[in-house]
Amino acid sequence: MTRPIPMVDLKAQHAALGPEIDEVIAAVLESTRFVLGPNVEAFEREAAEYLGVVHAIGCASGTDALMLALAAAGVGPGDEVITTAFTFFGTAEAICLVGATPVFVDIDPRTFNLDVALVEAAVTPRTAAIIPVHLFGQPADIAGVCALCERHGLLLVEDCAQSFGAGLDGTKAGAFGDFGCFSFFPSKNLGGCGDGGMVTTRSDAMARRLRALRNHGSHVTYRHERIGYNSRLDELQAAILRVKLRHIDRYNAERRRVASRYDALLQGLPLQTPFEARAGTHVYHQYTILSDMRDALAASLRNEHIACAIHYPTPLHHQEAFADLVGVGPLPVSKSVSQQCLSLPMYPELPDHDIERIVEVIKSSACDTRPRP
Ligand SMILES: *Cc1c(COP(=O)(O)O)cnc(C)c1O
Repeated sequence: MTRPIPMVDLKAQHAALGPEIDEVIAAVLESTRFVLGPNVEAFEREAAEYLGVVHAIGCASGTDALMLALAAAGVGPGDEVITTAFTFFGTAEAICLVGATPVFVDIDPRTFNLDVALVEAAVTPRTAAIIPVHLFGQPADIAGVCALCERHGLLLVEDCAQSFGAGLDGTKAGAFGDFGCFSFFPSKNLGGCGDGGMVTTRSDAMARRLRALRNHGSHVTYRHERIGYNSRLDELQAAILRVKLRHIDRYNAERRRVASRYDALLQGLPLQTPFEARAGTHVYHQYTILSDMRDALAASLRNEHIACAIHYPTPLHHQEAFADLVGVGPLPVSKSVSQQCLSLPMYPELPDHDIERIVEVIKSSACDTRPRP
């Protein structure tokens, strides 16, 4: 059997870090300080410095990061929050968890990010916030969203779950909006060995509120100023993330190497390779192609023990959980992209010869099913 190629190879990443990871894990076990300790404080400081933000507040997941940001800003029942229909479910779930209503807008067919030209029409007197997602690691049209938020007095919450280290004109994703929300789920560009998340903000008042909200509404043990959540980053995750944060620029550069190798080898085939907007640094959380024979392509890859994934098969306005939402338009771009998208293996350690093998399979599959003149 040929050697399988996974979507993500965390074994390779951890092997390369070697004893560094083992040592910090052992130190946390030795300390018996497991929740909100010195590693969380240090990681928050180091992440804030790396991202160029004033405050970073660790929490339990990326979904919680979004929920905590909305809750801190007072977004709740009766409010509408505009976001993209083409993203991971958690983006919109967080809106519902604070009692607000998601309003889905269609995407740009090239970047798969929120189509800002369509957002204005979705703004109503109830709109409280916009959540653009920097999907697959590519910065959303942040200038357009910022202008809209200013014009209408709306909160800007960036979903940076897939874009740690992505940037635009010298500013990192998570430093543009009122809040930046990150996930450290193991497969993200910066991932822990379990769940984790973080909110960034430049507001001292919001940072203070977030620190209470993530910890049962409390700043001082057994004094509770408000109803909060149990959503904390643990010391083991923070210690591991501190090690990986030191390598994030190299990881992202290697992801860009993999992407440009794919780009070069896939040229001329009847499929659409990822579009990179000229402005901004794409950090390729995913390398996602479009093909009108996506399912045949996926079957050929799997047949050769090469993993692939569909991000995402169902746009959010077609999810059962949102069946009750009224007045959602047809959102044709989200729908057609969801039918054609296919993500290929993408991780910093993916060797060139594996990329070549993946492309060979795609080439023979493409030639099988579509004879070209
Ligand atoms: C992963 C992800 C989330 C949720 O993060 P979790 O840590 O899994 O809760 C939210 N939005 C996007 C775009 C994501 O990719």
